[in-house]
Amino acid sequence: MTRKRISILGSTGSIGRNTLEVVRRNPDQFTVSVLASRSNVALLREQIAEFRPELVALYDEKAAAELREAEPGCNVIAGAQGLVEAASVNVDVALCAVVGAVGLQPLLAAIDAGNCVAVANKEPLVMAGDYIMDRARQKKVDVLPVDSEHSAIFQCLRGNAASDVDRVYLTASGGPFYGKDQKDLCNVTPQQAMRHPTWDMGAKISVDSATLMNKGLEIIEALCLFRLRSEQIEVVIHPQSVIHSMVAFRDGSIIAQLGVTDMKAPIAFALTYPERLAAPAMRLDVTALTGLTFGKPDYSAFPCLALAREAANQGGNVPAVLNGANEEAVAAFCSNRIGFLDIAVVVERTMEKCPVSQEYSLEAVLAADREARICAATIIKTMER
Ligand code: NDP
Ligand code: MG
Repeated sequence: MTRKRISILGSTGSIGRNTLEVVRRNPDQFTVSVLASRSNVALLREQIAEFRPELVALYDEKAAAELREAEPGCNVIAGAQGLVEAASVNVDVALCAVVGAVGLQPLLAAIDAGNCVAVANKEPLVMAGDYIMDRARQKKVDVLPVDSEHSAIFQCLRGNAASDVDRVYLTASGGPFYGKDQKDLCNVTPQQAMRHPTWDMGAKISVDSATLMNKGLEIIEALCLFRLRSEQIEVVIHPQSVIHSMVAFRDGSIIAQLGVTDMKAPIAFALTYPERLAAPAMRLDVTALTGLTFGKPDYSAFPCLALAREAANQGGNVPAVLNGANEEAVAAFCSNRIGFLDIAVVVERTMEKCPVSQEYSLEAVLAADREARICAATIIKTMER
């Protein structure tokens, strides 16, 4: 059996490390050709020693220089262009797991190189989902979801006609602040926001899960991945995180995908699709399940969800504006410049200020991202504590 060649963009992050764990447990299945990250030289050196990639990219130029010196035998490239070059290396699957909009150009470069892409990095799909999916269709490459909900939906849809789909139930754990109201949330710290009840993830997505913006981004992600209409997606709070999402069909049947809360399962499925790997994660003991509950989200306590829904409905450049403003606001919250509830305020005011455009081009998306960040930064300045 030939091994699959893979590249991992964001190898030092939560998804990247989980991906390498899948590879570590299945050494005869994969060859790691490319590793890329921002600046974590120490962990990259360990990964290089273990997986021997042919190319390594670091976004941070200084970190890249440091790595070159420490690993003279290693081919190291740097900067935003380095990331794009790394994504362009011909592989069987490019796993895109950097965080944020910075992943957009590398994702497109991977597609342009004819690589099948396994996408965890949801922000580019939010900003430019239709553009990315069109490009992938032109290049005849698969875009495989890694996000657990989207992997679940993808699995539930297999073998069914799109025209038979009634709706999709996108499940949400509710995050660390489920059941709280705005009054309880005004003094929340970044540390509290990052403590997710069921998933162990990077800082940005943990905060997004706490505001429920993550679920909002996932609505937009699902729209483009599965060509759904916004009203077909219903968010349900399912605190146990056992069902990763469900699809309801027009005959009333509902198909759900269940599993443990371990990203290695959806990562492995994306890497080996259409085949399945033996036991990438623990088995779910269904006899130990006591109560699976489902509820409606509280839109007034978590306004980010409504803002994302609004962006999804408006389309055009609005999701890119939402995303850019949210990235700026989350960074400001994580560095204690604004409060937890200010995140939604920054996003809402930025959406009000940035002009809506339905122009369909990469330039329009990039311009919307730039404008949103400038606008959000100005708003953040007026709020700083
Ligand atoms: P982490 O913060 O744990 O890791 C981010 C990774 O991206 C690190 O390797 C980091 O490198 C790298 N990175 C950050 N900025 C840059 C940059 N400018 N250039 C190159 N590399 C960069 O994030 P997660 O792994 O949690 O999340 C990654 C993506 O996957 C996000 O978009 C998230 O929404 C999505 N996702 C994550 C899930 C999870 O369970 N974690 C679940 C579903 C989706 P360095 O370490 O050097 O800073
Ligand atoms: Mg998810």
